[in-house]
Amino acid sequence: MSEVQVLKEQFIELYGAESAHEIRVFHAPGRVNLIGEHTDYNGGYVFPAALTFGTTLVMRRRDDGMIGFASTNFPLRKQISITDIEYRAEDDWTNYPKGVIKELQDRGVRVGGYDLLFSGAIPNGSGLSSSASIEVVTAYGVLTMEGQPVDTVDISLLSQKAENEFIGVKCGIMDQFAVANGKKDHAILLMCDTLEYKHVPFKSGAYKLVIGNTNKKRGLVDSAYNERRAQCEQAVKDLQVKFPDLRLLGQLSLEQFMESQDLIQDPVVRKRAQHVVEEIHRVLHSVRVLEEDDLVGFGELMIGSHNSLRDLYEVTGFELDTMVEAALEVPGVLGSRMTGAGFGGCTVSLVHQDSVERFIEEVGQVYKNKTGLTADFYVCNIGDGVKEIEVG
Ligand code: ADP
Ligand code: MG
Repeated sequence: MSEVQVLKEQFIELYGAESAHEIRVFHAPGRVNLIGEHTDYNGGYVFPAALTFGTTLVMRRRDDGMIGFASTNFPLRKQISITDIEYRAEDDWTNYPKGVIKELQDRGVRVGGYDLLFSGAIPNGSGLSSSASIEVVTAYGVLTMEGQPVDTVDISLLSQKAENEFIGVKCGIMDQFAVANGKKDHAILLMCDTLEYKHVPFKSGAYKLVIGNTNKKRGLVDSAYNERRAQCEQAVKDLQVKFPDLRLLGQLSLEQFMESQDLIQDPVVRKRAQHVVEEIHRVLHSVRVLEEDDLVGFGELMIGSHNSLRDLYEVTGFELDTMVEAALEVPGVLGSRMTGAGFGGCTVSLVHQDSVERFIEEVGQVYKNKTGLTADFYVCNIGDGVKEIEVG
């Protein structure tokens, strides 16, 4: 039996077989950002790709104005009226899909009653965007069930709004955008201020993207994230002396930054801004080298990105640095870097297919010896964005 069939059986066990309505199945991927970290909220470029694993949603209409929430990943189940979609701490994970449903209602979408069963293959809280995945699959599922137009850019925006306002996490647009707009074997060059984007073929040839999960709990991440955002805003304020119209660091060219960085008073704030401006430059450079099939060049840019996140932006930490250093020791590795917000979560490495087994073995061992933690590895392919799954 296929995984989808198994899930449908589970759905029927939970909610019963009796219904006048059909069961439909949707899927949204997780995402990995290949390069361009902490540039999104600065109106810069990011370069994420959707993964081939993500969150599946099995869904069926019901006629009593209630929504049933269940997940194979969490024991908590809920039945909530469509007229009572509010944030409640004790509702735990269901707040994510509820936030999206509330946002759809606020936009005037008539949301019916449904039974929902989610099933995620993305490790939660590891920076592979399980939250964006569950949000985007909910929005796509509801809009499709209601026969509404499905615009994946719009879905990313409303999902981000739900996460910002309903959940209260100040994430940028990248995660939801990548999950909603991914394309098989392509990365997405996304300009986070204007949402202009293009799909760039990621022809990795004999090389594989390998994600390493540090399994380090991201303790400090929220406060440090907010602090970095505030520092970037401070840099903009300082630079407005020379550039009165500047709103976001991403609007500065590398040359403009180099000429005017002394206007930034605090040396720590200056370092933060330097990372942002140079990282945006690295993203654009990455697209150029990939268009020339220069994977070695791309690997070097990945390493440069990690070093900058370590030394200038200071968001890596011992675990991520250890994993990246160990990765770069393995022959056949072109590049390695942290991905996501930092302080824990995952690394992404570009590894020759013949070295993948050795990579997992050696990096896992060194990482365990130095940190006492056991890493997980995922050899990944780039998949499509959110869609309805055809069940044959
Ligand atoms: P991530 O880096 O994975 O996005 P977050 O902390 O932002 O980490 O989001 C993880 C949270 O999203 C989970 O704790 C849970 O509340 C919710 N979530 C994600 N996937 C699922 C799922 N399949 N079922 C239920 N809740 C999920
Ligand atoms: Mg998240």
